[in-house]
Amino acid sequence: MHPSYPAEPYKIKVVEPIAMTTRAQRLQYIQEAGYNTFLLNSQQCYIDLLTDSGTTAMSDNQWAGMMLGDEAYAGSKNFIHLQEVVREYYGFKHIIPTHQGRGAENLLSRLCIQPGDYVPGNMYFTTTRAHQELNGATFVDIIIDEAHDSQIDLPFKGNVDIAKLQKLIDEVGPERIPYVCVAVTVNLAGGQPVSMANLRAVHALCAPLGIKVMFDATRCVENAYFIKEREATHHHQSIRDILKEMMSYADGCTMSGKKDCLVNIGGFLCMNDDELYQRASEMVVLFEGMPSYGGLAGRDMEAMARGIEESVDYHYIHHRIAQCRYLADQLVAAGIPIVQPVGGHAVFLDARQFLDHIPQDEFPAQTLAAQLYLESGVRSMERGIVSAGRNKQTGEHHRPKLELVRLTIPRRVYTYAHLDVVAQACKDLYARRHEIRGMKMVYEPKFLRFFTARFEPLVAQTASRPAAAPQVAELETA
Ligand SMILES: *Cc1c(COP(=O)(O)O)cnc(C)c1O
Repeated sequence: MHPSYPAEPYKIKVVEPIAMTTRAQRLQYIQEAGYNTFLLNSQQCYIDLLTDSGTTAMSDNQWAGMMLGDEAYAGSKNFIHLQEVVREYYGFKHIIPTHQGRGAENLLSRLCIQPGDYVPGNMYFTTTRAHQELNGATFVDIIIDEAHDSQIDLPFKGNVDIAKLQKLIDEVGPERIPYVCVAVTVNLAGGQPVSMANLRAVHALCAPLGIKVMFDATRCVENAYFIKEREATHHHQSIRDILKEMMSYADGCTMSGKKDCLVNIGGFLCMNDDELYQRASEMVVLFEGMPSYGGLAGRDMEAMARGIEESVDYHYIHHRIAQCRYLADQLVAAGIPIVQPVGGHAVFLDARQFLDHIPQDEFPAQTLAAQLYLESGVRSMERGIVSAGRNKQTGEHHRPKLELVRLTIPRRVYTYAHLDVVAQACKDLYARRHEIRGMKMVYEPKFLRFFTARFEPLVAQTASRPAAAPQVAELETA
């Protein structure tokens, strides 16, 4: 193996067998799931790259911590430990645990947003924007234009476009902007990082105007790795020090512990402002629980505290990023279109190019995800028009430029050999891509539709379609 792909910095102590399926079984399963990979059961999947959220393999040290859970209703020792660790590694004054990231997003949005406000962000995230809109805000995308182009190779493609932010401030006034939400890294742009210089610039613009900067810190360790790798002034700094400096340019953050805190459940909201903390402590009781547990068991908080400590280990994060690159390098070598550069948690197939004969309203990324499952038992996720939802005023689909399928790498779970299987499945599918047809949506839920929407493959109807074997027939004879 090439030295740029380091071997695992851990060894295996417990194994979990994974289900093997036949193509005939997978056809039945994906039909039952309405061609939505979210609706498959895990036992129907061979390699599960749906998400890296909560799918982490915990360490022996974290499991040992689970046995030290102090399940007191208030003031558990594990909360005290978590608070210490968050203060030490992230640097914020106050922490409120929540059951996961969106619990923190709910609190922040309710506490800070007034109807008619604007919340700028470096590209949207599904749950983040949903909570902002639920509270009457309009989300405004202030990411640099290049982030919307899947082929532009930039070191910090998640950066905020300072001119766009300035323009919004000029248009609506600082008092209509309760906070700027900066995601580090940007999930929906392909896991693209934000530079330290950019974080500093956002803070410098907002602080004098009284606009808070709140990070979506979910993938902050991955972001810190990219800063170390790509920003010359930080090459020699530790991941831990970079992380702490990043956070010094924010007034607080929401965190999904299910990602970079290396746990299966948990999250938190942080802030430096005492008054905001006071109000958040009152509100968390309604939605999550006491401010000292926020919907988590003591053992969950212990695992998260230990996960935060482990997450800044260079060897851990170096291997994680290398796994993404290993998969991406194989796909690129086969000519398969992916988002460039490769981000921190996943490889994103560019479904717009992969299936360039399928119009966006026929859900190319959703189709590709369903077909990849059928081909190989590999489960992936749509991140395109289905995830983007509808405009709340006009009811029209949001039509994002990026129409992607996300192959998300869980932390410390799969080996390079598993990634070889994934690469081969993508290559096989790419070879027969012209046989694949789009789909129609037959059930659409009101909120966050990608989770539970159902689809059916389109049957060839018009003369303009090639008469080649329609997808349905192909599926049924498989
Ligand atoms: C996962 C995620 C969230 C939401 O966190 P949950 O724990 O799933 O509720 C928010 N922002 C980003 C960038 C995420 O990846």
